[in-house]
Amino acid sequence: MMTSNHKKNFEYPIGTGITKDLTVNDACVGCGMCARLCPTANIKIENGRPVFGNKCLSCGACIQNCPQNALHHNKEKSGARYRNPNVSVEELMQI
Ligand code: SF4
Ligand code: SF4
Repeated sequence: MMTSNHKKNFEYPIGTGITKDLTVNDACVGCGMCARLCPTANIKIENGRPVFGNKCLSCGACIQNCPQNALHHNKEKSGARYRNPNVSVEELMQI
């Protein structure tokens, strides 16, 4: 079943998309995983933190795959994250 947050993701226009509602917390170590996984190259690491551009598709890859769980939607009810254990990060990067 689609949650209200998922539905909202589909309502975000391509551009700033979901990133306008994201917070990067102090757990971020600037590893760059989010930037490497973003399918539109919408993230650059500047001064050890992700900076979002205007090509966001609201796919959630950056949020779900941050190894530090440092990216959070401002209205999220849970900080739990999920990624398919049968798909490696390397495979995701090839998409
Ligand atoms: S993947 Fe997470 S820890 Fe790494 S740079 Fe992005 S937000 Fe920071
Ligand atoms: S990974 Fe997805 S949600 Fe994150 S900035 Fe890129 S397009 Fe937007």
